[in-house]
Amino acid sequence: MNGREPEALIPAAVDTLPINFAILDNEGTILYTNRAWQKFGEANDIELRPDTIGTNYLTITRQAETETAQTAAAGLSEILTGERELFEFEYPCHSPDTRRWFLMRAASFTNRDQRYVAVAHFDITDRYMYQRQLEESNERLQQFAYIASHDLQEPLRMVTSYLQLLEHRYSDDLDEDAKEFIEFAVDGAERMEAMIEGLLTYSRVETQGQSFDSVDLEAVLDDVLTDLGLRIDETDAEITAESLPIVSGDASQLHQLFQNLLENALQYSGEQKPRVSISATRDEDEWMISVSDTGIGIDQEDADRIFEVFQRLHSHEEYKGTGIGLALCQRIVKRHGGKIWVDSEPEEGSTFSFTLPAPNT
Ligand code: ADP
Repeated sequence: MNGREPEALIPAAVDTLPINFAILDNEGTILYTNRAWQKFGEANDIELRPDTIGTNYLTITRQAETETAQTAAAGLSEILTGERELFEFEYPCHSPDTRRWFLMRAASFTNRDQRYVAVAHFDITDRYMYQRQLEESNERLQQFAYIASHDLQEPLRMVTSYLQLLEHRYSDDLDEDAKEFIEFAVDGAERMEAMIEGLLTYSRVETQGQSFDSVDLEAVLDDVLTDLGLRIDETDAEITAESLPIVSGDASQLHQLFQNLLENALQYSGEQKPRVSISATRDEDEWMISVSDTGIGIDQEDADRIFEVFQRLHSHEEYKGTGIGLALCQRIVKRHGGKIWVDSEPEEGSTFSFTLPAPNT
């Protein structure tokens, strides 16, 4: 070091940043601007015009009559009056050749009992475009899944009903082989129907979900156990549950979530009778709910794959199913702001756990 305090280098260093940066006093007068701020004003015809030292930034912003400028001015004035400490605002900006997006950020700070405001404008065009593209492609994908599955149902119904017609009307003329072939075909069509229905439900999780409400998971579990009563009796399953919390969510989707996990626990129980336990633990601002079974388990290397659409580890002959159940669970949990995963030991059992945000108390 050549004897200077590092702080003294800050203005020169800030001049190198690709961020438009200024410091205002507590009335909005510009005290300092960096090089990017100065250059930006010359090169662009924008609404939130940066201005030079000595002018009042709030006045300038207020004078521009566009909505963008008015929003920025309102935020800035709240910072100046001390009503809030931070104001962030994303806005489009017309430079001579492109439309770009900026983030304006104004934050107050105190130095020697005097309040100041640091204002920065960041170019966020890349992030903005990326996000927009992602949203658009998600939307298109969802629409595609919905339309595809919806429109596939119709011709499939035709296949099924003509097969049934064949079976009924020509039953006497058909030999055993032919009857068996029809049975296979009907079975295939029914499986396809179940898959399409699953896809439809899957594609509707975001778009057709209910708004969030207070949901008592204990009541949800009770309902699910009632619905599964027959299966539970048939398999002689033993199900135990700790007390479960009240969360904020979509009751019917949470019902679906528990139902899928319990159905799996009953289905993939192996030779012995199913033993399932459900528990809930609170970790800071979220709940973790776990559904444990003592069934056939899952190889660690398949632990991620099973949450994908149509991914199954067994043939249809071994275990019936469409491979949508866990994908749906994941989508539902994601919509609720949580995550879902499995811990498992092959032949020992699996524990499916998911988190849900705890309501603010
Ligand atoms: P499906 O049960 O219709 O095949 P899922 O998406 O519910 O579809 O499950 C995907 C795969 O994950 C299942 O085919 C099965 O191989 C495996 N699996 C799910 N739950 C369990 C479980 N509790 N124990 C062992 N394997 C499971």
